[in-house]
Amino acid sequence: MAEETIFSKIIKHEIPSEIVYQDDEVTAFKDISPKAKVHILIVPNKVIPTVNEIEDEDAALIGKMVLTAKKLAKDLGFAENGYRLVINCGEDGGQEVPHLHLHLLGGQKLRIVGLGF
Ligand code: 5GP
Repeated sequence: MAEETIFSKIIKHEIPSEIVYQDDEVTAFKDISPKAKVHILIVPNKVIPTVNEIEDEDAALIGKMVLTAKKLAKDLGFAENGYRLVINCGEDGGQEVPHLHLHLLGGQKLRIVGLGF
């Protein structure tokens, strides 16, 4: 079992955050330092540190993260205009928090500079 993270505390409502969706498997909350008009993080409730630790048995959970992003984009009204989904992995990928998370960025035209935000 991977160690608890700052995101685990958010999932358990132990530290404040703006949670926009939560169920038994995933939690979505607003990024504390938004890089776009809408910047939401979608995380599995169980700790998977990075993409490297995803197991075959997690396939449905990863799909659930993407489907949650799709639903939020629709509910927030920018699905048709488009948006960006990003997962950083490890140090070279720029991952800061060792708890797998899918960035949902949207609500505006995003710059295409490399693959940065
Ligand atoms: P990473 O660089 O690991 O892909 O992204 C981590 C993201 O988590 C960053 O965009 C950062 O702003 C966000 N973040 C870090 N700590 C917190 C926190 O305590 N609360 C919230 N809501 N977001 C956080």
